[in-house]
Amino acid sequence: MEYQGKELFRRVGIPTPRGVHATSAADTVAFVAANPGSWVLKSQVMMGGRGKAGGIKFADDAAAAKPLADELFGKVLKNEQNPDGEEVRSLLVEEKVQIASEAYASITIDRAAKKPVIIVSSQGGMDVEEVAEHHPEAISKFWIDPAIGFQPFEARQLAFAAKLPVGYHKAFPKILAGLYQMFMEYGANLVEINPLVLTASGDVIASDAKVELDDNGIYKHPDLNAWRNDGPADEDQAAAVAIGLGMSNYAKFADESGEAPKTIGTIANGAGLGMGTMDAIKSAGGGAANFLDIGGGAQAELVKNSYNLVTSDPRVKAMFINIFGGITRGDQVALGIVEALKGDDVRKVPLVIRLTGTNAEEGRKILAEAGFFPVETMNEGAAKAVALANGAK
Ligand code: GDP
Ligand code: MN
Repeated sequence: MEYQGKELFRRVGIPTPRGVHATSAADTVAFVAANPGSWVLKSQVMMGGRGKAGGIKFADDAAAAKPLADELFGKVLKNEQNPDGEEVRSLLVEEKVQIASEAYASITIDRAAKKPVIIVSSQGGMDVEEVAEHHPEAISKFWIDPAIGFQPFEARQLAFAAKLPVGYHKAFPKILAGLYQMFMEYGANLVEINPLVLTASGDVIASDAKVELDDNGIYKHPDLNAWRNDGPADEDQAAAVAIGLGMSNYAKFADESGEAPKTIGTIANGAGLGMGTMDAIKSAGGGAANFLDIGGGAQAELVKNSYNLVTSDPRVKAMFINIFGGITRGDQVALGIVEALKGDDVRKVPLVIRLTGTNAEEGRKILAEAGFFPVETMNEGAAKAVALANGAK
């Protein structure tokens, strides 16, 4: 969300208005009362276009802030892209700045060029897609060669090319350098400032922030893990986040009439392999109760937590773990599983494991000795799991 994006902006030296993140209307009003001045109340939701959706309000004192904060908390913001809407649960209360000019700056990956691309426009404050459609000349792009990095003179050239008002020119190289540093260090898919404001007093400030981090890069910044708790929209997502996985790494499936009862818990590494695993279970006449994508390099702790999450569903009568090893050593994966599941604090269900990759055979031996059911192929594993779930020994 915006307040988190701005926290990252501050870490890389991009100026932002001063403000606080408030989680109740009472906190909001108390803050404005204690800090006289003009404040903006900004709804913290994932969706964009909050201004148009009625999620941004202005208050010059606590008396004005009170009804606005009461209105915003609990309000569901909607627009065309988000017809279901999103409920406002917190506000960023930020010093109101006097806007002289609004520009746009972002960095994202250009998949076709396989390079980060910087996009700059003098038409900030509105939807960049709209600007691209109606005023393509107002948008300038610059592709960065990651081996060389980004140079201040390139920022100056971009400022000229995009016809940014002169007031931006001095501050602009430092802001783009910060944006690029953040993009690289945090493994972002997108960093966007819209609007990048030139204030009446001549300062250049990031008035809005949109940051999309790649889940796969979060491990580099464990302090950001807590932020992931912000997003989950349902129980499954919350459960996945709670054990350190991405929000979409776990899903539970409801029973459906006419289909086999869903009695098999599944864990695989990679969403694609997971789909294949569920299909194989279905062709073997069974039903997957859930699916957990454990990702790469699974540590014993994560294996255990994943196992516990999957078996927490009382419908689960057997488990199928499908790990495509590649260069990961099968014997190590096997030892990890044995270690993770040896305690009394796990619900024991028959466990079928398919392991491939280096030392897979040694891995299977270790698993068999520990009382699990190692198999060589996915179909064999699916058939075995279905049989075990139906009570075979
Ligand atoms: P978005 O609609 O979700 O992109 O939210 P923004 O943070 O971009 O705010 C939307 C619009 O509200 C901006 O483009 C500004 O026009 C206006 N706005 C936001 N903050 C301020 C501020 O501090 N001062 C003034 N004058 N306008 C603001
Ligand atoms: Mn914006």
